[in-house]
Amino acid sequence: SLSDRLTGALKDLRGKGRLTDSDIDATAREIRLALLEADVALPVVRTFVDRIKTRAKGAEVSGALNPAQQVVKIVNEELVSILGGETRRIALAKTPPTVIMLAGLQGAGKTTLAGKLAAWLGKQGHTPLLVACDLQRPGAVNQLQVVGERAGVPVYAPQPGTSVGGEGEMGVSAGDPVEVARGGVEHARASHFDTVIIDTAGRLGVDDELMRQAADVRAATDPDEVLFVVDAMIGQDAVTTAQAFAEGVGFTGVVLTKLDGDARGGAALSVREVTGAPILFASTGEKLEDFDVFHPDRMASRILGMGDVLSLIEQAEEHWDAKQAEEAATKIMGGELTLEDFLQQMLMIRKMGPIGNLLGMLPGAGQMKDALAQVDDSQLDRVQAIIRGMTPAERADPKIINGSRRLRIANGSGVSVSEVNQLVDRFFEARKQMAAMTGRLGGPGGSRKNT
Ligand code: GDP
Ligand code: MG
Repeated sequence: SLSDRLTGALKDLRGKGRLTDSDIDATAREIRLALLEADVALPVVRTFVDRIKTRAKGAEVSGALNPAQQVVKIVNEELVSILGGETRRIALAKTPPTVIMLAGLQGAGKTTLAGKLAAWLGKQGHTPLLVACDLQRPGAVNQLQVVGERAGVPVYAPQPGTSVGGEGEMGVSAGDPVEVARGGVEHARASHFDTVIIDTAGRLGVDDELMRQAADVRAATDPDEVLFVVDAMIGQDAVTTAQAFAEGVGFTGVVLTKLDGDARGGAALSVREVTGAPILFASTGEKLEDFDVFHPDRMASRILGMGDVLSLIEQAEEHWDAKQAEEAATKIMGGELTLEDFLQQMLMIRKMGPIGNLLGMLPGAGQMKDALAQVDDSQLDRVQAIIRGMTPAERADPKIINGSRRLRIANGSGVSVSEVNQLVDRFFEARKQMAAMTGRLGGPGGSRKNT
């Protein structure tokens, strides 16, 4: 997966203070392979990887992040931007009703989506009407009626005798989807429904007749939105299908369905980039509530498969005091870390969340996590109390903390002498280990210079 590949590629970047061109090229190769594996279309991969390379080469070295994290951040930002940046809202008609037409292959999830969209609009105070224009498949009209009932939204359908809410007969008897669509919009206008959702027929594959019919429905109803509904599981085929619909019918937005499956989202990335149409909604199951507006940032972290790493990066950037970190790192490397620094570092790390979670987020930080698993927040509180009970001179030069000083500190901070001993021992041990670890991991990006 992309996440495995990136973790692999990024491991090599750890411990470096600055990205060289050959680091970037090597990482770009891994990203390229990973995207291809995630079913992203080749031309899209090319454009994407080029953008990453350009940005990584010009990147400022950040104080908060190490180089590996910086690459993840860039990849993520570019993914979000390629997926549309901000969430795009549905376009409403100036004069109601707003007409929303659904198009896509059979089985893409149009009828299911029609119900979800109707329920969602209803919750926002709209008064939607569903229109059943799939006259291809036997049972399709009935399926929409079941969906409508579940969503509590009326359905305009071609069968005679279909009635809704005591308004009498609704629908036409003709089997022409274009006429049904036109009739549905007229009915909505007359009966003051403010939104119309037109469900259309699909085929198993793209064909001329399907396209012609959908194009005719579009021409007859002049929709405010035409939503291309596409199954996220179909991978590469999404691009050819999307292109065919873009040429044959045209659409203003995309809906991704079946995101509850294990698809990594390559389809999303490709469709957005190839057609330029924004992704508006995401469907994540068969039930009415398995539906949400599309969030590019969430999709990006899904494609990247590194949601945890991304939130760690955010937290690190938010709380890391670059200058202080740099000073501390210099001291650590020189073996001159004081207890005051130790306390400050600890407080900074604590601001980022419980220490266990934090370390768990780092890819490949397994060993470090195990080593620190015993340290919990309540212990850290006591450590803090002990250090606060020391004089500035003791914090600056812990070697002077002799027996009588230890007793005084213990009494002052309400702990036993053995706890003070433990802390001081642990501090000297940590100072040694941190110096070694800084050498291995590279530490925060801005704190080390290239040699
Ligand atoms: P249409 O032919 O485009 O109208 O597709 P349908 O709405 O009839 O959906 C086809 C099948 O996919 C049905 O069995 C739906 O229950 C199922 N389906 C639709 N959307 C989703 C989704 O987001 N997740 C899952 N798991 N199934 C879905
Ligand atoms: Mg259908």
